Amino acid sequence: MTQAAPKDENKPSNFLRAIIERDQEQGTYASRTWAGTPGDAAHQAGQQPDPAKIRTRFPPEPNGYLHVGHAKSICLNFGLARDYGGVCHMRFDDTNPEKEEQEYVDSILDAVKWLGFGWDAHGTSHLYYASNYFDFMYRAAEALVQAGYAYVDEQTAEEMRVNRGDFGKPGTDSPYRNRPAAESLARLREMRDGKHADGAMVLRAKIDMASPNINLRDPAIYRIKHAHHHNTGDKWCIYPMYTYAHPLEDALEQITHSICTLEFEDQRPFYDWVLERLAELGLLAQPLPRQYEFARLNLTYVITSKRKLKQLVDEHIVDGWDDPRMPTIVGLRRRGYTPEAIQLFAERIGVSKADSWIDYSTLDIALRDTLDPTAARGMAVLDPLKLVIDNWDTVFSAGHVEPCSAPVHPGHAERGRREFTLGKEVWIEAEDFQEVPPKGYHRLYPGNLARLKYGYVIKCIGCDKDAGGKVTAVHAELIPDTKSGTPGADSVKVKGVITWVGAHGGTGSGVEAEVRLYDRLFTEAQPDAGGKDFKASLNPDSKRVVRAYVEPSLSQAAAGTNFQFERHGYFVADSQDHAAGKPVFNKITGLKDGWTK
Ligand code: ATP
Ligand code: MG
Repeated sequence: MTQAAPKDENKPSNFLRAIIERDQEQGTYASRTWAGTPGDAAHQAGQQPDPAKIRTRFPPEPNGYLHVGHAKSICLNFGLARDYGGVCHMRFDDTNPEKEEQEYVDSILDAVKWLGFGWDAHGTSHLYYASNYFDFMYRAAEALVQAGYAYVDEQTAEEMRVNRGDFGKPGTDSPYRNRPAAESLARLREMRDGKHADGAMVLRAKIDMASPNINLRDPAIYRIKHAHHHNTGDKWCIYPMYTYAHPLEDALEQITHSICTLEFEDQRPFYDWVLERLAELGLLAQPLPRQYEFARLNLTYVITSKRKLKQLVDEHIVDGWDDPRMPTIVGLRRRGYTPEAIQLFAERIGVSKADSWIDYSTLDIALRDTLDPTAARGMAVLDPLKLVIDNWDTVFSAGHVEPCSAPVHPGHAERGRREFTLGKEVWIEAEDFQEVPPKGYHRLYPGNLARLKYGYVIKCIGCDKDAGGKVTAVHAELIPDTKSGTPGADSVKVKGVITWVGAHGGTGSGVEAEVRLYDRLFTEAQPDAGGKDFKASLNPDSKRVVRAYVEPSLSQAAAGTNFQFERHGYFVADSQDHAAGKPVFNKITGLKDGWTK
């Protein structure tokens, strides 16, 4: 039976959805069984029908932090499983010894959970490690040798390279290609038993040295590597090649749709070849998984190569993997990106088979679309200038502070109001005063009226300057009975509205804050395209730290909370450095798109 995916505007169909829907209509995977755990044909035989309608997987190598490109793959694989009654396996592709670390495993699991996905389904955790399949992979290798589908080649690496041929030239058979299976088997066991040095020989699939697809010219499937593995220790000194291991992992886990990036397209014939041989030998259950390729994410102003990102960290160009300018998931998270924004972005960009660059504004707009309806509002002054209300003591009394309030969110009255106070001294933005106003300027200049937002109308009467002519304070008079929300509020019409926080000190007054203003890390849209030196286009102004003042509700925020600073944009209380009363904020993004020119 078809389980149609919701076809709303947010989830446009794509070629992968079409394939899954076709498979479900045709019942391609209806006969599969599932023993409750991954395993070979014997393990799965006679078991219950698979309760998962499809199985996909997210298979990172635990050798670094995930980035926004991985987020696309996570949203795709977990999203398709969710939408089609399936399960997505979280699988660590840890078949390569030496490189993997627990720190990466933990951060990857954390990133996937934070993005909103999980791997528990039908009462089981679908968290798998490819290295747990080493026994099967080796057994399958012996079976291939015995059936004449693989042989141990003792040519040197150089001989193998030369004999492989190239695009224009067919390869040449190895002198070891037709050795008896028993001899290859004996050699393979010696390899396994540590009798040979690294590189002395390899196990190769016996396919076709003249194939136009070079990947089918007897690819290596096992190599000798005397190396310690984080999971299997020193049990193995031979390790499977990725191109051999990956299809087997998929098949053991009963994956139906194995989705990968386009660079693996040429590997698909080998993926099918090896699975078909092992099914034919009775080792793997049918129907077999199928591989589908999609275009990887390329995002403008961003680099998504782990190696290059590591360079930024190692050379202290950024302040670590979770620097808010990094496109890593930990970086995006610290910057204030929400999981909803990243999921929405992934849905909007969809999947295709053609490589292209996605404009950063697509992510930025998705971000704003998720922040605007939820983020609490607050006022902050990022470039503070003191404003003194000279008639304060006569309108009120010396030391009086006036309570003011504003909605937490203009669209959600039920979220209540934020409270703060106005006094004789106020912080305003330096740009909100001009001694000589440019045309069309409605904020403060001598003689002009403007409103302190949520407070009173004031009239600017002048300013103080230092010896260098720099404005050090602005003076104004308060117009009584004009407070926002009172009947007199509309008695004086003004064009300018000034955001502010109290500078009188005490409860309700502004609190000093560190605000980190982030901008794009690169000035060029495709910083590393065509082998360009990405360090040549680093933006020198990608991080600017200012001393600001924020209203009390912002100062008291919990770390990690997102806000809209009125007129300035979106900010997050930094997850590491912010503490109530000692506020530290990161700029997430502006109020308007600043990416499309
Ligand atoms: P990198 O090139 O940054 O080192 P990788 O491909 O080596 O990344 P893996 O851990 O092997 O990293 O990737 C896990 C999964 O994420 C793979 O299925 C891979 O196809 C996918 N992936 C990696 N980068 C991108 C990207 N830019 N867009 C979409 N998917 C990606
Ligand atoms: Mg990889």
